[in-house]
Formats: sequence, structure tokens, C-alpha cells
Amino acid sequence: MVDTQTRDVVIFGSGPAGYTAAIYAARAGRKPLVIEGLAPGGQLMITTEIENFPGFKDPIAGPELMAGMRAQAERVGADIAVDTVEEVDLSSRPFKVKMSAREVAADTLIIATGAEAGWLNIPSEKKFQGRGVSACATCDGFFFRNKKVAVVGGGDTAAEEALYLTIHASEVYLVHRRDEMRASKIMAGRVADNDKIKPKWFRVVDEILGDDSGVTGIRLKDPRNDETEEIALDGVFMAIGHRPNTEFLKGQLEIDGEGYIVTKPDSTRTSVEGVYAAGDVQDKVYRQAVTAAGTGCMAALEATRFLEE
Ligand code: NDP
Repeated sequence: MVDTQTRDVVIFGSGPAGYTAAIYAARAGRKPLVIEGLAPGGQLMITTEIENFPGFKDPIAGPELMAGMRAQAERVGADIAVDTVEEVDLSSRPFKVKMSAREVAADTLIIATGAEAGWLNIPSEKKFQGRGVSACATCDGFFFRNKKVAVVGGGDTAAEEALYLTIHASEVYLVHRRDEMRASKIMAGRVADNDKIKPKWFRVVDEILGDDSGVTGIRLKDPRNDETEEIALDGVFMAIGHRPNTEFLKGQLEIDGEGYIVTKPDSTRTSVEGVYAAGDVQDKVYRQAVTAAGTGCMAALEATRFLEE
């Protein structure tokens, strides 16, 4: 089925960036269509409690926050397609968007397809997700006050997460598969200078240990000789990179070497006029729900201004 009407604003993705863009576009008198995507609600759907999104005195569950954003977007007039984008043609306007069940044309596009945290893909990691295994220290670090945790990875994210966790945790193991950090010199230096961070060089995670209450420890392996050791701790934070969801856009607009959409400085404009990018799909530094919402707002304002011109 092909939509006969061209939409003025089509939004890919239903995390905080996508829904905020929808709310702003609808309130500007547009009729946005949000295409939810494969993981409706985005990364917050796998977060248990959120304490850093302004406006909620008590912690709010990720799925509840996202349900609220979705309902708000619908109330102000956004349409939501429970579908995924399979193909997009940005070569001329209106842009053509092929979903699994139908096609639409769009005068402007806001891409807010997010990023996925890299996971080790071992069964115990999945089992304890949300019960001691996390990929966001800023989101979940608070719950590990005076507890022992480990951060896995050696990049800037791992350094940043480990440093952040020292605010709350009593001890932070930094588990890295080599003995040299990939992180920038300044971040690696800060890690080295922090007494609470205990590096575990040449170690990979063999298994995350736990019981009904959640994570109780970690088994590490030395990849050089397969020797293992177990450490008792309460939380494991994965920081082995993020994968922005841009595979379906390759060759259509500017994407950097790590897969992030390139936006103009202080803007959500992409290399294609009329196409905007918001949230984690273009942000490798902050990656917060509130910053994603902020760029979603920017994208909607820029798209509506473009339509007015
Ligand atoms: P990176 O890809 O830079 O680092 C990933 C780390 O995880 C590497 O040390 C890598 O090891 C390790 N790793 C990857 N896969 C595995 C695995 N399966 N098992 C064990 N270890 C693994 O990702 P980041 O998220 O850290 O950073 C992404 C980009 O964002 C970078 O450009 C970074 O500079 C930037 N960034 C900037 C920040 C800032 O400016 N404040 C903050 C955060 C990120 P190895 O080194 O051996 O490959």
C-alpha cells in the first residue's frame, strides 16, 4: 500500500528524540508520522529506574516514561506507525520511505533511530540485564552506592563510566582485554590517577555470576593463557562501544567512520537538505535521554522552519 499524501514531517525512531520531535512538530501545526522501528521506545525500555529525567520526583521506570512520551505525542496530533523503515530514498524531495507494510513520501525527515550499546553476547549478561548488568553508568550508577562494580572496555566510554562510578561505588574494576587503553591520553590519565579504579589488564569476561538477587560476581579470563579468576562484586557495566542504527542509510547521507550521522555544528541538519538527525544516532558524547529529547526538539524546530521557508 502506498500513502497518496506526502507527509510534511516523518520521524524514524521512537525514543526520547523521536517522540520529542513529534511533540514539537505537531504543536507547530504539522502532522508528523513516527515510524516506531524494531525496538519501540528505544534504549530506555531496558532501563529499570530513571532518576535523572527532570520532572519526576520519584524514580520512573523506563517503559513508563516512554509510554508517557508516546501518549503525549499522540495527544498533540502525531500519528504512529507500528512498522520499521526498510528502505529510504534521499536522492530527491519528497523523500521516499518504504516500510514493511506501506510506503510514504516525506517533505522532511527526522532520523532518531538511536544506537545500541555493544554487548558481549554471553547468556549470563542477558540474564542479569537490569539486575546488576547495565550499559549506562549515568543511568544506573546511583544504585551501587558503596558497592563493588566492574566496567568492561578500554575506550573513552569505559574511562568516563569508571570515573563516574567512583562517585558512588567503593571500588571499580576496569576490565580490558589489552594492557593499553584506547581512550584519549587525558581520560586514561584520569583513570590511572584514581585510587578507586583497579585496572584488570589482559582480562575478558568469561561469565557474570549471580543468583536470584542479581549479580554477585564476575569470572575473568586471561586470553593469553586461559587462566581464570573470580571477583565478588555487585554490578557490571559494559562499555565496549555503541552501534548507531544507520546501516539502512549508508551511501545516502554523510556518516562518520563509526557509523554516526554527521550533523552541522549547533544544528541537527545533515548533509541532505530537509533531513535532520537527533539523539544517539548522531551523539557519541552525551547519550542521555534528556539530551536526546533536546536534539529532538531542535530537529523539529529546524524541520518546521525549513517547511515554512
Ligand atoms: P571504542 O570503540 O572507542 O572502545 C571500545 C572499547 O571496548 C575498546 O577498548 C575495545 O577494546 C573494547 N571492546 C570492544 N569489543 C569488545 C569485546 N567484545 N570484548 C572486550 N572488549 C571489547 O568505544 P567508546 O564507546 O569508548 O567510544 C566511541 C567513540 O566515542 C570514540 O571515538 C570515543 O573517543 C568517543 N567518546 C568520546 C567521549 C568524550 O569525548 N567525552 C566520551 C565517550 C566516547 P580494544 O581497545 O582492544 O579494541
